[in-house]
Amino acid sequence: MNIEELANPSVLTQPVYEPGKPIEDVARELGLDPEGIVKLASNENPFGASPLAVKAAKKALKGVALYPDGGCVRLRAKLGAFHGVEPRQVVVGAGSNELLELLGHVFLRPGDEALMSECSFAVYKLVALLFGARPVEVPMVNFTHDLAAMAAAVTERTRLVFVCTPNNPTGTFNTEEEVLAFARGLPGHVVLVLDEAYGEFLEKRPDFLQLVREGRNVICLKTFSKIHGLAGLRVGYGIAGAGLAGLLNRVRQPFNVNAVAQAAAAAALDDRKFVEKCARKNRRGLAQLRRGFRKLKVESVPSAGNFILAKVGDGARVFAELQGRGVIVRPMGGYKLPEWVRVTVGTPSQNKRLLRELEAVLSGMAG
Ligand SMILES: *Cc1c(COP(=O)(O)O)cnc(C)c1O
Repeated sequence: MNIEELANPSVLTQPVYEPGKPIEDVARELGLDPEGIVKLASNENPFGASPLAVKAAKKALKGVALYPDGGCVRLRAKLGAFHGVEPRQVVVGAGSNELLELLGHVFLRPGDEALMSECSFAVYKLVALLFGARPVEVPMVNFTHDLAAMAAAVTERTRLVFVCTPNNPTGTFNTEEEVLAFARGLPGHVVLVLDEAYGEFLEKRPDFLQLVREGRNVICLKTFSKIHGLAGLRVGYGIAGAGLAGLLNRVRQPFNVNAVAQAAAAAALDDRKFVEKCARKNRRGLAQLRRGFRKLKVESVPSAGNFILAKVGDGARVFAELQGRGVIVRPMGGYKLPEWVRVTVGTPSQNKRLLRELEAVLSGMAG
């Protein structure tokens, strides 16, 4: 018997997430030295992680024969104190991606609708489909979530609404006032998921937790993968009412967050200097890329994240040619933006290299 006939049919139609290519894969395929390859494809922190987090991770390695703290008690206490909420309002996941899946587990049934902006984080749609729900994608205005149109698209079947701000992959954000008004206008049968993976990169950081304090059906998702530079350890968290957090805790696996990740995340949270330094360097990097793109007559979308969309013409081809030159970016065809690529903000020298290779690629294509 064909093994696929044994599978749940919804698995066979499930699309697969396409991650940014690892440096090692590109080096092997192209016969290049991995040292010479620059990866600006997955919005990782080009400055690495806080040294305090790395030190804590090394220390935790000594205890890996034991299961981790299944309840993430210490980390949740720290996160609660940091955000001014109770520990039982915090749920920790193996990346905030795991929490997105847990939200599907808890709230989505076949036939339900999950509302999202078109051109937002690909995982929202994948989660909806995984649980047999219908992803409803609302067009953007100026690469930005159209919250009025999203409010109008809510139906009786809507269960989850995803708002990502700053938004991946467009880099745009919605203001605090806008998001608060949108959240306060949602009906009671809807849960709002505010994905703040890039929140720390904003110069003026919004306070969406006031929605949680008001007792609304809202969860704020945050991650250690981006500004904290711990993408490889997989740890993210959500803050919500104790009821909502409790439901997510009920469906997660007992030891979903490993011991090294818990220790590193706790230390990373304490290193505010590192976070602020990375935010500042990122803003300078964004300015460097904007200037460089302008010089090349390449349009870009003003970004509040650690990445930027650039209109390069044939995005798939520019992606492939840049990769051949050892610079990995992200093509945007899957987001229905075939003329664009998304570039993660790198170190000053990585940004310079990207701009140099892009100039060569574009002049080669023109000639
Ligand atoms: C990177 C990212 C995340 C976080 O992913 P992790 O699973 O925490 O690594 C969540 N949402 C968006 C929009 C992202 O870009």
